[in-house]
Amino acid sequence: MDKVTIFWFRRDLRLSDNIGLFKAYENEKNVLPLFIFDEDILDNLEEKKDPRVQFIHSQVKNLHKKLKEYDSSILVRKGKPLAIFTELTKEYTIQNVYTNRDYEPYARDRDKRVEEFLAEKDIPFKDFKDQVIFEKDEITNNEGSFYQVFTPYSKVWLQKLKELDMELVDLDGRKKSFYKTAPLPFPSLKDIGFEESSIEIPELKIDEKLIQDYDKTRNFPAKSGTSRLGIHLRFGTISIRRLVQEAAELNGTYLNELIWREFYMMILYQKPSVIDSSFKEKYDRILWSNDEEAFQKWCKGKTGYPMVDAGMRELNSTGYMHNRVRMITASFLTKHLLIDWRWGEAYFASKLLDFELSSNNGGWQWAAGTGTDAQPYFRIFNPESQMNKFDKDKKYIKKWVPEYGTSDYPEPIIEHKKARERALETYKEALAK
Ligand SMILES: Cc1cc2nc3c(=O)[nH]c(=O)nc-3n(C[C@H](O)[C@H](O)[C@H](O)COP(=O)(O)OP(=O)(O)OC[C@H]3O[C@@H](n4cnc5c(N)ncnc54)[C@H](O)[C@@H]3O)c2cc1C
Repeated sequence: MDKVTIFWFRRDLRLSDNIGLFKAYENEKNVLPLFIFDEDILDNLEEKKDPRVQFIHSQVKNLHKKLKEYDSSILVRKGKPLAIFTELTKEYTIQNVYTNRDYEPYARDRDKRVEEFLAEKDIPFKDFKDQVIFEKDEITNNEGSFYQVFTPYSKVWLQKLKELDMELVDLDGRKKSFYKTAPLPFPSLKDIGFEESSIEIPELKIDEKLIQDYDKTRNFPAKSGTSRLGIHLRFGTISIRRLVQEAAELNGTYLNELIWREFYMMILYQKPSVIDSSFKEKYDRILWSNDEEAFQKWCKGKTGYPMVDAGMRELNSTGYMHNRVRMITASFLTKHLLIDWRWGEAYFASKLLDFELSSNNGGWQWAAGTGTDAQPYFRIFNPESQMNKFDKDKKYIKKWVPEYGTSDYPEPIIEHKKARERALETYKEALAK
C-alpha cells in the first residue's frame, strides 16, 4: 500500500494561501488531497438543483485540473466521513491527516469522531486555523471571557491585526511533496445526486474601486455597491487573509464587515446553543403568532410591502439579497408578522448562496432583537421609510416588483401601525414574565 499524507479539503477550496495544505506540503511527503461529498450534509438538501452544491463541484473540479500541473490529483469520495476514512485506511498507509479547522457544531463533532478513529490507528490528525484571522478565544476581554458585544470585540480585533505579521503562503508551482498519480476518477454532478441550477454565481473578483467606495454605496440595493464575495468566503475560494490585507488598505467600513463575520463565528463557537435558542435566553418566552399563510406570503414576496417583496423575490430568483433588505425583510417577519426568527432563518438558509450558519443566525437574532448587541426590540423598521431612504427612485422595487402601483399588487397584509403596536406589546409581555 502507498504511504500518503492526506490533506482533507472542506471549506477552503483553493491551492494558494491555504494554511493546512501549505503545512502538509512543507512538512510531509506524498500529500494526497481529498474531498468528501458529505452525505450527512447533502442528504438534508431538498432541492436537487442546489447552486451551492454545483459551485462546490465546479471548484473541486478546478482543483482536480490544477493538481495535474503538480503531476498529482484529488481523491473525491461521496459518503459519510467516518466511513470514507475507514475505507481509506484499507487502501493506503496513511501517515497523517492534515486539514483546516471548521467551527460549526456539526463540523466540530465530525472532526472529533474522525480524529478519535484515526488516533486508534496511530494516525495524527493535524488541524490549522485558516478560515478566520482570529479564532475561538483569541479575542477575549480582561477577564478572559468572550465578548458578547461587537464594538469592544472589533477594537481588540483591529489592535491585534496591527500586531500580526500576516504573510501569505503559496506552493509556488513546486511539485516536491504531492503524491504522484495520473488523474483520479472525478464524479459528475449527477453521480453525487444533484443537477445543474440556472442560478448564476458571482465571479471571484476583488474590485478595488468598489471596496474604496463601499461606505458610500453599500446601503443602496439598486446599486452594485457590495463585493458579492460571500459565497467565496463561505467555501474558501478566496483567502480571508488576502481579503483582509486589501480591506485594511482600502476601506475601514468594509474591513468592519469582515470583523462582523468573525464575531458571529466566534459567538457560534462559544455559544452553540444559539442555533436553537435566543442568545438572550429570556427572549425565548416570546409568544410568536406563527401564521402559516402569512409566512407563505412573505416567502413568495406577496406581503403588499414593496421593499419586503422585492427582497424576497430577489432572493428566490438569484440566491442573493442585499444586506439592507435582509435587515428589512427579517425585521418585517419577526416584528410585523410576529413569526419566529427560526422560520425565517431556515428559509434564508435554504436559498442564500452565501449561507453561513453563524452570520445568518447572527443576522436573524439581530433583526428579532434576541441576539448579541441587538438594536433594542422597540426600534422597529418601517418598511416604507426604509424604501424612501434607500430606494427613493424605486429602481430596486421596479426591478423586482414590476406590478407595484397597479391593481395587480396586493394590499398590505397587515397595517404598519397596528403591527408595530402588537409587536411592542408581545415583546413587553414576554420580557416582563
Ligand atoms: C437576516 C440576515 C441574514 C444574513 N445571512 C447571512 C449569511 O447566511 N451569510 C453571510 O455571509 N452573511 C449573512 N448576512 C450578512 C450580510 O447580509 C451578507 O454578508 C452580505 O449581504 C453579503 O453580500 P456581499 O458578499 O456583497 O457582502 P459585502 O457587503 O461586500 O461584505 C463583504 C463580506 O463581509 C461579510 N459580511 C458583511 N456583512 C456582514 C454581516 N452583517 N455579518 C456577517 N458578515 C458580514 C460577508 O462575508 C461578506 O461577504 C445576513 C444578514 C442578515 C441581516
